[in-house]
Amino acid sequence: MKIDENIKLAPFTTFKIGGPADFFCSVTSEDDVREVVEFAHEKKIPFFVIGGGSNILISDKGFPGLVILNEMKGIAIESDVISAAAGESWDDFVGYTVSKGFSGLENLSSIPGTVGASAVQNLGAYGVTAGQFIHSVLVFDTREMKFVELSNADCGFEYRDSMFKHEKGRYVITRVDFKLEKGGKVNIEYKDLKEYFAAKNINAPSSAQVREAVISIRAGKLPDWKLWGTAGSFFKNPVVSAKEYVLLKEKYPGLPGFPEAEGKVKLALAWILDNICHAKGMMNGNVGTYEKQALVFVAKPGATAAEVVELAQELMKRVKDATGVTIEGEVEWVN
Ligand code: NAP
Repeated sequence: MKIDENIKLAPFTTFKIGGPADFFCSVTSEDDVREVVEFAHEKKIPFFVIGGGSNILISDKGFPGLVILNEMKGIAIESDVISAAAGESWDDFVGYTVSKGFSGLENLSSIPGTVGASAVQNLGAYGVTAGQFIHSVLVFDTREMKFVELSNADCGFEYRDSMFKHEKGRYVITRVDFKLEKGGKVNIEYKDLKEYFAAKNINAPSSAQVREAVISIRAGKLPDWKLWGTAGSFFKNPVVSAKEYVLLKEKYPGLPGFPEAEGKVKLALAWILDNICHAKGMMNGNVGTYEKQALVFVAKPGATAAEVVELAQELMKRVKDATGVTIEGEVEWVN
């Protein structure tokens, strides 16, 4: 294991933005994880773990500490539990589970990032979340300096959220165990999926067919990660009370809302940004909202974190002024 100094972080993120880290290290084993955390503790410097770098925005000044790149690999199947090392590519892992006949994760196809990040973010798309299928998570607890297996309940999964986002810097995720069913039920409740299969006259698609559908739908709607810098959806969809939704619906009759627990309603933020804030395709320097999906930010070469933050703040203000709703980032800001 080698610890490098002054390493530019932009190439390790899908936004392709970010200054240097004082120290940088790639880990491939549990021993590496322990050793590198000891290094950070000895030097009394902060650290954070990066996987696919697909859900972070790193400051232009970089990170004054240690960045740990998780490159731990390996997948194992034991009955209905499939375990994957945290550094495995998320989409390759989903493809693998589907190819082995398991269902559950197919709606989460074509999302960049790593297996470890799926637990941090409680990854979600097309009505499915990673947390629904996570059985346990093996972590290195950097406070206690030991490996611990956390249960699903310990992870505190919520909408695009988990305990890991709140206990920042405490845990390094090394493995995630998923409980999946062979030939189980698939979820095609979202309109795009329903329409895709209706057009093909398929009533009961297999998980492989759903994966194929999601890949095709996403390719038509989302930016090509190889051409653009992007971190996918930049904000979370806000959740409001039923009363607030009724008032907003009077003002904006087309506003889509989806029922949530406790009578709350989830608003489609992309619709608000597009139809109320007229922000689809809006640019701020080298950064903008994607022309086909306003919730997704895209960055041209030369883009800076400052430009992203300015655009995000402008959109937060526009949404607040028009609807009274405060929106939150889905992407993690590192500075
Ligand atoms: P869409 O299908 O046009 O729907 C717009 C929004 O309405 C979505 O954000 C979705 O919320 C919500 N929605 C739609 N149908 C729903 C239903 N039947 N029940 C509950 N909520 C519903 O969205 P899209 O932009 O094409 O995205 C499709 C899926 O991919 C969404 O789940 C989205 O979150 C996901 N996605 C993820 C990323 C990422 O970076 N992680 C990027 C783009 C899209 P939800 O977002 O809560 O599902």
